[in-house]
Amino acid sequence: MNDFRYRMAKFFSGRTGVDALGRAVTWLALILMLLTMITHSNICYLLAMACLLYSFWRMLSKNYQKRYYENAKFLEKTAGIRRKLSVLSAKLMAFFNKAKADYNQRKVYAIFKCPSCKQKLRAPKGRGKIQVTCSKCHTVFIKKV
Ligand SMILES: [Zn+2]
Repeated sequence: MNDFRYRMAKFFSGRTGVDALGRAVTWLALILMLLTMITHSNICYLLAMACLLYSFWRMLSKNYQKRYYENAKFLEKTAGIRRKLSVLSAKLMAFFNKAKADYNQRKVYAIFKCPSCKQKLRAPKGRGKIQVTCSKCHTVFIKKV
């Protein structure tokens, strides 16, 4: 096993390996493969294969200086879109976290609206009929939770 690892390390030393451009091309290949499965398009398939071959070739390339500059150029050109993507993914994460928190709250709390001012209110579940005082308009009403 160690021998295998040693040989792998030796094989990859002095080669480019996986960088940001390589990862992007691999993702592109995966997306194209997915598209191929949906559309059965030969062009998508060929493009996917071309992307895969290109990413392998970059990974194994010994001219890592040239590959390094390609990667730097790629990062420079995609800086704007990568910033937007990271903002978007942060927003998505926040949305899912909020949805998860809401879901967890609904397990523990009954959520309902005040009959007079429609203020959203909550009370611990499973207490039967309780008297609720609205936090906004102070209307008192009976609610089963
Ligand atoms: Zn109210």
